[in-house]
Amino acid sequence: MSDVVDHLAQVNSAIAEAAVAAKRPAGAVTLVAVSKTFPAEAIEPALAAGQRVFGENYVQETREKWPALRSRYPDVELHMIGPLQSNKAKDAVQLFDVIESLDRSSLAKELAKEMTRQQRRPKLLVQVNTGAEPQKGGVLPEMVDAFLAECRDLHGLAIAGLMAIPPADEPPAPHFALLTTIARRNNLAVVSMGMSADFATAIAMGATHVRVGSAIFGTRSKA
Ligand SMILES: *Cc1c(COP(=O)(O)O)cnc(C)c1O
Repeated sequence: MSDVVDHLAQVNSAIAEAAVAAKRPAGAVTLVAVSKTFPAEAIEPALAAGQRVFGENYVQETREKWPALRSRYPDVELHMIGPLQSNKAKDAVQLFDVIESLDRSSLAKELAKEMTRQQRRPKLLVQVNTGAEPQKGGVLPEMVDAFLAECRDLHGLAIAGLMAIPPADEPPAPHFALLTTIARRNNLAVVSMGMSADFATAIAMGATHVRVGSAIFGTRSKA
């Protein structure tokens, strides 16, 4: 368990170093600690060490793990980073502070409905499929501007930024550059990109949020 604290400290200093190297101000990059598949006992030490922003991929797992942790650490900020089914929009609005995986009209519609019903407004990021991979969620790069307009004009949703997961078998830098370009063009402040293997590159290319799991919590037995 103290491994988690050590690894967290290492990741935080690597983030600070990458930010300095990129001439970006201290605090320009937020670490989203990705705790999917890890039990509350593994997350506790990170919370005790001061980490407050976490990412999860599954609604059900989040519902089982986080309410108890949140009652002890009320200032936790939970990010939904996994694919989200429209029929889970209700739970997602209830459980998460940021939803990073908004990627289609039907989901935008459900989220808008639930946000009005629950009077709860998680921040929303649009996921972009920068590699146009058929098996991956996300809006195609050339469709993002239109999708943002639709979210705003049709569903009344304010979008805070963009998220992407580059193809596993390609250098990530061009994908990071593309995501930053689309975000700037649309005046979006939040750019969520970079994972354990490539967060320093992502920071060099403008990430405001990096999502780091295995470098903190260790290897996962399942996805
Ligand atoms: C699992 C996951 C991560 C973390 O990946 P690591 O390689 O373990 O750092 C980041 N983003 C998303 C969307 C994920 O599903």
